[in-house]
Amino acid sequence: MSPVKPKTNPDHLTPETAESPAGIYVHVPFCQTKCPYCSFVSYPGMDSKLKNNYIQTLHRQALKLAKHPWSEAREFNSLFVGGGNPPSVATEKMATCIAACLDAFNFTAGANNVPEVTLEANPNTVNPAMLQRFREAGVNRLSIGMQAFSDSMLNNIGRKHTVQDGVRAFELARAAGFTNINLDLMYGLPGQNVAVWKNSLQQAVALAPEHLSVYELTVEQGTPFAELAGKGELNLPHEDATLAMFEQAQESLTAAGFGQYEISNYARKGFACIHNINYWENGSYIGLGAGAVSCFSGVRIKSTESPEQFVHLLDKNRIPYTAAEFLPLQARFREAVIMGLRMTAGVSVSRLEKQFGVTPQKYYGAALGKLQQQELLHEVENRLRLTPKGLLLANRVMAQLV
Ligand code: SF4
Repeated sequence: MSPVKPKTNPDHLTPETAESPAGIYVHVPFCQTKCPYCSFVSYPGMDSKLKNNYIQTLHRQALKLAKHPWSEAREFNSLFVGGGNPPSVATEKMATCIAACLDAFNFTAGANNVPEVTLEANPNTVNPAMLQRFREAGVNRLSIGMQAFSDSMLNNIGRKHTVQDGVRAFELARAAGFTNINLDLMYGLPGQNVAVWKNSLQQAVALAPEHLSVYELTVEQGTPFAELAGKGELNLPHEDATLAMFEQAQESLTAAGFGQYEISNYARKGFACIHNINYWENGSYIGLGAGAVSCFSGVRIKSTESPEQFVHLLDKNRIPYTAAEFLPLQARFREAVIMGLRMTAGVSVSRLEKQFGVTPQKYYGAALGKLQQQELLHEVENRLRLTPKGLLLANRVMAQLV
C-alpha cells in the first residue's frame, strides 16, 4: 500500500524491546446452548468427562508454556478467562487451573497492586460458592454477559437467561467481594429501538458496575442469524438507528461518569481493562486452549478449535497449533495503527516511529491527509486519534488504513 516501508531502528526501540508486560488468555469453549448470532469457538452440550479432561489439559499446557524461554523472559500483567462460558466447567478444576497459571507465569502487580484476573460468566450460571472459590483462586474482575436489560430483547437474540438472572448475578458478585465488575451489553438487536436501548443503559448504570462493554450486534457468516438475514427475516434496526444507539451509549454513560476509553468500552476512573488495552496497543499475549490465538514478537499462532483434538494432541505431547504466521513489519505497523486508533487516546506517533522507523503520516501519505481533511482523524499532542465523527464512522476509517 505504501511506498514508505517501516524499518527497525537499531538506535531506538524495536517492536520487541518496546513491549510492555504481556497478557494471557484462557479459552473455555463450552456453553449451555449456542446463541444464534455467535461465531466464537464454543460448543453446547459437551459431556462433563470431556470438560474435565479439557481443563486438566489446559492446566498442563499453562505449566508447560510458563517454562518456555519466551515466557520466562517476560512479565505478565493480566489473565483473562473467557469463552464460551467458563463457569460451565467444574469450579474446583477451573479455579485450580487459574491459581496454577498465576503461580507459574511471572505476573507483575498492576495499578491495584495485583495482576488483573478476569473471568467471563453468563448470568444464569453463577452461584455464591463458585464466585467465592474463584475469588480465592485470584479472580478479581468478573465480566457478566448481560447483553440486554429487556427480556424480550434477550429472547430475540436467543439468550437463555433473564434480566432478573443478570441482576442476581451482579448482586452475588458484589456479595462475594468483587469490586471490579464489567457488564457486556449489545445494541442493534432485532426489534430494538433507541428507547429500548436507552432503558437498558439506564438499568445497567443503576447497578453501578465499574466497566461496561457495549458492542453492536454483527451478523457473522455461517450463523443462524446470517441465514435469517439472508431471507430478510431478521428485523434489524436501520443503520441510522444503530448509529443513534452508539451515540446514546456515549451520552448516557458519560453522563453517568464513565469514560469512553475505546470505541466500545467505558470505565470508571482506574477500571479500564488492562487485558484489552494490551490487545489494542498491539502488545503480546499467549492464548491457551482450543481456538485460542497467541501473538508475540510478530508471530501469530492459532490453536485447533476442537477441544477433543486439543486434549488428544497434548496427551501425545504434541503441539495443538494449526496455523502460524510471521507478520511482516508492514503488517505489524498497520495493525499497531488500526488497533491503537480504537482507543480514544489514540496511538503515539513517536512511539510508532521508534518501533517501526516510520510515522503514519509518512506511511499512509495522502490517504491519511484525506481522512484528516474529512475531520475523521486528528493529531493531538503527538497522538493520532479518531475525532468524535471518526469514532462514529470508525469502520470506514479503518478500511482506509488496513
Ligand atoms: S454464550 Fe457467548 S460464547 Fe456461548 S454461544 Fe452465546 S455468545 Fe457464543
